[in-house]
Amino acid sequence: MSAEKYIRVYRSVNIDEVKKHCLVVEEILGQCQNCKTPGINFTQHKTCPQCKTEFRYLATSLKEREGIVKILQRIKKESLAIEMIEKEDLDRATAKDALSALFRNS
Ligand SMILES: [Zn+2]
Repeated sequence: MSAEKYIRVYRSVNIDEVKKHCLVVEEILGQCQNCKTPGINFTQHKTCPQCKTEFRYLATSLKEREGIVKILQRIKKESLAIEMIEKEDLDRATAKDALSALFRNS
């Protein structure tokens, strides 16, 4: 049994940048967060086939840890240059931005 495990790390980021370069997947197929094109296979596309944005981050709508770990193992096995982020963090950060933007305009 390997001692290698996955942990979540907190990092300060530019949320607009993260969102732009993020692919949100179920298991394999996902949606480009920049142009909303669906059905993109994260193991085959380093950039969006539609808008050509480079995917640097991957988030999943899966809730079970087992499914998340499966994606992480796939990223590692195929040496993909993409970082897994927590979708809840992304949703929370972008929702807060949307809310403050709303108030800024009123
Ligand atoms: Zn795109």
